Amino acid sequence: MSALLEVDGLVRHFVAGRSILGTPKAVVRAVDGVSFRVEAGRTLALVGESGCGKSTVGRLVLRLIEAEAGRVSFEGRDIAQYSAEELRAFRRKAQIIFQDPYASLNPRMTIAQALAEPLALHGLAEAGQRRQRVDDILRLVGLEPRFAQRYPHEFSGGQRQRIAIARAIAVEPKLIVCDEPVSALDVSIRSQILNLLRDLQRQLGLAYIFISHDLAVVKHVADDVAVMNLGQIVETGPAAALFEQPRHPYSRALLSAIPIPSPSRERTRVVLSGELPSAIDPPSGCRFHTRCPYVIDRCRTEQPVLGADATGHAAACHRISELPAFAVAARDAGTRSATLDRLTAAFTAKSFTAKSFSTKSEVQRRQGVHGQG
Ligand code: SF4
Repeated sequence: MSALLEVDGLVRHFVAGRSILGTPKAVVRAVDGVSFRVEAGRTLALVGESGCGKSTVGRLVLRLIEAEAGRVSFEGRDIAQYSAEELRAFRRKAQIIFQDPYASLNPRMTIAQALAEPLALHGLAEAGQRRQRVDDILRLVGLEPRFAQRYPHEFSGGQRQRIAIARAIAVEPKLIVCDEPVSALDVSIRSQILNLLRDLQRQLGLAYIFISHDLAVVKHVADDVAVMNLGQIVETGPAAALFEQPRHPYSRALLSAIPIPSPSRERTRVVLSGELPSAIDPPSGCRFHTRCPYVIDRCRTEQPVLGADATGHAAACHRISELPAFAVAARDAGTRSATLDRLTAAFTAKSFTAKSFSTKSEVQRRQGVHGQG
């Protein structure tokens, strides 16, 4: 089956400084040979540290900036070969949601105007039907139609992100690039927006490229994951497999920072040491070698290639077969804190015993036993 979006060998460098004669002094290798595919109705998460090139990939696949090399195919057609008319149609089918919804909304337009504008631009609703369409779209993103006459500054951050999502889905897209869509929101609002994105995906059959530096967020939305480091994908595969058994040392380091919500299980935190390289002059060989705890001489000179197994799980590392398993271990009982033990016991119904609490009356209070000796 051909994918909705296929990206092959994408390259984009930026000039970071020029001499007085205009010749480039430094070049940022932002995206350096990136390939992946996105199926209709699925989510590919692009993850990595700030500056790894993931947002540049998002803009390249939408042709908001031009690639220097490589190919992006949407519905089987190379987007670089689009006519003006085809590019206009592509602009409707492939949308983007930004981290800061306020910056992406015109402060002088009401929400009704902001949502009606793309409907008119793409001829998706007659003038007399647009208001009804706007109301339907607002309901779809969990906002009441009576908000339509308000301006962006009258909404909270979470509501503004719902409006940005409404504007993206108004034109009936097939693909949405979500560029850090919840990073600027309060933690309490994040899950609501993530749930909304998931619900809309189910209802409308949308495909997402979900760009994030936060693997804990990605875990809740991704079907597939691609981990980027310094302009290259170092590991990719189904999300379940990658989160359960990450193969690349860089992915392991990122994953080890996610807390496990269980007091009886723990991961060994991998703290990266060594110099944090720049995309202006990335290290030779494996670009992760200056920070990798498993580095050998070969890593410094020879660039590893992504090698996939039958499930599509791939990692670019020379030592992939030698690395120890990435284990989530049962926490050693001897190292557990007494306070944590007491708290765990307190929230387990069977543990409401005199051992868990300091006094008999406290046990009775917890069990709902009142007025008895
Ligand atoms: Fe580490 Fe070498 Fe593997 Fe790169 S190729 S991740 S430096 S072991």
